[in-house]
Amino acid sequence: MEKDRSLTSWGVSVEDIPPEGLSFTFEEFSDLGEDIVVSKPFSGALSLNKRGIEVKVTGTLKGAIVLICDRCLAEYEFPIDLSFNLILRPRSSLNIEETKELSLEELDVSFYDDDFIAFAELLREEVMLAIPYKTLCREDCKGICQVCGKNLNEGPCNCRVFKKSSPFAILKDLLSTSKEMEGG
Ligand SMILES: [Zn+2]
Ligand SMILES: [Zn+2]
Repeated sequence: MEKDRSLTSWGVSVEDIPPEGLSFTFEEFSDLGEDIVVSKPFSGALSLNKRGIEVKVTGTLKGAIVLICDRCLAEYEFPIDLSFNLILRPRSSLNIEETKELSLEELDVSFYDDDFIAFAELLREEVMLAIPYKTLCREDCKGICQVCGKNLNEGPCNCRVFKKSSPFAILKDLLSTSKEMEGG
């Protein structure tokens, strides 16, 4: 893939979308911006259809990115395989009331600038939406030890014994000690 396909240059002018629409597939796409690390380049399909100033976009997207686990801070691969439907409108037409109505109809609405639809930006948006709010390398990630910083998925650390003792356990120890003292 040629490297000059930047986030903004790969796309189409709205006026260049033919009346019958525009459909194509793509492969080996990995330029999703500096903050998204792609581990499996994306393939997929896009099709665009004009409806006045709006452009209806349907597409599929398949690949994988690297995320960092919120709990253990390790990197892990997050596969993405999705299809999407959205309406693109010129940002200059942004009208809050209309957007509210559209969201009631459960349509995804996004915007384009300067009569140009940048495909990479569009795909980047879909990938961002697919990233979970809480990132976990696995459902039962044990996280890192708060004391020594060891990744507990790799095995227990030596601090574990101390972490387990609760204030009640300590209290119990104290009580039994004072009992012994009374008795003795
Ligand atoms: Zn984790
Ligand atoms: Zn530890």
